[in-house]
Amino acid sequence: MDVLVIGAGTGGMCLAHGLRQAGINVAVYERDRTRSDGLHGYRVGIDPHGSRALKACLPDQLYRTFMATCARAPEHFVFFDEQLRPTLALPLRPATDDVDSERSVSRMTLRQVLFTGMQDVIHFDRTFVRYEHRTDGRVTAHFADGTTATGDLLVAADGVNSAVRRQYLPHARTEDTGIIAITAKVPMTPRTTALLPTRFFPGIGMVLAPGGKSCILHWMEFPWDRQGRPRNDDELLARWPGLLFDNTRDYLNWGIAAAADKFPADIMTYGGDDLIRLVLRTTPTWSPRLRELFTLGDPSTAFAITIRTSVPIPAWPSTNVTLLGDAIHTMTPGRGVGANTALRDAQLLTDELTLVRDGRKGLVEAVHDYETRMIEYGFQAVRDSREQMTADALVHKPVLGRVALAGMRGYLRVVDRVPALKRRMIDGLYEYRGGQD
Ligand SMILES: Cc1cc2nc3c(=O)[nH]c(=O)nc-3n(C[C@H](O)[C@H](O)[C@H](O)COP(=O)(O)OP(=O)(O)OC[C@H]3O[C@@H](n4cnc5c(N)ncnc54)[C@H](O)[C@@H]3O)c2cc1C
Repeated sequence: MDVLVIGAGTGGMCLAHGLRQAGINVAVYERDRTRSDGLHGYRVGIDPHGSRALKACLPDQLYRTFMATCARAPEHFVFFDEQLRPTLALPLRPATDDVDSERSVSRMTLRQVLFTGMQDVIHFDRTFVRYEHRTDGRVTAHFADGTTATGDLLVAADGVNSAVRRQYLPHARTEDTGIIAITAKVPMTPRTTALLPTRFFPGIGMVLAPGGKSCILHWMEFPWDRQGRPRNDDELLARWPGLLFDNTRDYLNWGIAAAADKFPADIMTYGGDDLIRLVLRTTPTWSPRLRELFTLGDPSTAFAITIRTSVPIPAWPSTNVTLLGDAIHTMTPGRGVGANTALRDAQLLTDELTLVRDGRKGLVEAVHDYETRMIEYGFQAVRDSREQMTADALVHKPVLGRVALAGMRGYLRVVDRVPALKRRMIDGLYEYRGGQD
């Protein structure tokens, strides 16, 4: 069995590792050799679902390298008002278990980890343009440079604008949620860390403000210093070649989100300095310390992003073309599970194709069983994530929005004061994110 994977992102590479570990022929076709633009320099939170999939698919040593290259794990999730007053502080479970915990990782570093040892599997500078079914039942992928590749199964792992999906499921759409986010990194220094309450360190902060505006804050402290040298003599880290190419150093990251009508129509043409000035204009009454943090954002890292989501579709008849990750279920970052769901897909598809390898299932039957489960949890995650981040939500309405915000803050304060409610909220969070306890 030859498997062709289009896209060497999080999901595609996890699948490639899983298949190679299972002794199944796999080739990955990727258009970009190196990426540092947009989100690629940013954090991605890996939850127990994601860690479990990486552990199942990666060789053991590489999984340990993934863990060694994660930033310091978040210890709290704190909600603030726009004056930086905490409304609820949720303690996160210590990252002692190698699967059952929350991890923060630089996307670039995760990409480098996933590329490690896969030189013979990944074909760079191959932009997929279309596929065709052959008369012998196999499938041929065509690339922009005129080359082709033929296999038994074609897997679309080519992200939100998937060219495979456009051809295979032309009725599957993505749409704007009406939310725009602006984000930037702030180098972590004594001056910048002094701007945030100590309750935030090391953790994740969420500012909920009037007008449906919000701001997420991430603390990213890496196990290497400003020169890229491992801080703790970690042997795995010292030997890992990818670190040489990493340009991510400790930072704080802020990301403001609001309905598109709060921003100018031409925001996508703004440069970094203009975006930071715009954030300051959008938050005139916010805490001066938070606004100083916005001012200290590195303009070269600032960018705006339109938040998009898939529109779930009914199941389709399975064939020897399938999809995983954002290619089929793009979701808003509202729940922080897009990459984790892509990893979950990769593990599930690996398991199904292993049954084909062993002669226990036919290929299309295995694809069908994979798609049945993936469609269920994938589109559920799409719906849940949209609920968290859409301009249709009450908080974005002029008058009702204030009432909704007051209600939400009141609820968070009550949870903060009632240990049983707090425990239930933490348990719910872990359960949703694949925690096993
Ligand atoms: C602001 C924001 C924050 C987020 N935070 C989180 C988080 O904390 N946790 C989480 O789980 N998720 C998060 N997500 C979601 C997460 O980023 C995505 O769900 C995840 O990256 C999807 O992985 P993927 O492998 O499906 O696609 P991608 O990682 O996008 O990979 C697709 C790959 O396909 C390649 N490609 C595209 N087209 C072609 C082509 N025609 N030919 C060849 N190659 C091609 C691309 O170059 C790319 O390498 C966030 C998203 C956003 C927008």
